[in-house]
Amino acid sequence: MYRVLIGLGSNLDAPVQQINSAIERIIEHDSVSLVKSSSLYESLPQGPQDQNSFINAVIAVDTELEPLALLAFLQSIELTQGRIKTRHWGERTIDLDILFIENQVSPINLPDLIIPHPHALSRDFVIIPALEVAPDWRLPDGTLLNSALADCLKHDLKKI
Ligand code: AMP
Repeated sequence: MYRVLIGLGSNLDAPVQQINSAIERIIEHDSVSLVKSSSLYESLPQGPQDQNSFINAVIAVDTELEPLALLAFLQSIELTQGRIKTRHWGERTIDLDILFIENQVSPINLPDLIIPHPHALSRDFVIIPALEVAPDWRLPDGTLLNSALADCLKHDLKKI
């Protein structure tokens, strides 16, 4: 059993509902239990600007699923909720990312899975909700997640 932070984002087809449905689906799994959900945040899109704002959240869960099995489970939920690939950093009904794993001492670097998530530390819409559910979280190098906040890119985040 280990604790993991999962990032959720949506900017299509009733984003708040998309986020809430995804959380419900994630915690329906017998091997996943919810520890805490963050508030919902609205953020300006990165990449193409001709798209709606995003709604973002982070949840902390405890799970017995291996990281690759967790990724496959999250991807099945993305498909269920109608995620189709459009343009890079484009609009999406739901995006689910494995952000960080508790007590991780070395990064995971597999072809399909990189943890910490490669962009997590540069995004305020990841770090701020993550700190809400896990204020003392430490990264594999031992530094506090909190210390990444000053240098991340800002997306005009608003709690909703
Ligand atoms: P995205 O378009 O951001 O949802 O990226 C999806 C791709 O990122 C998938 O092919 C995953 O295999 C890959 N990926 C790599 N690391 C992660 C991670 N930590 N969480 C989720 N997807 C990941």
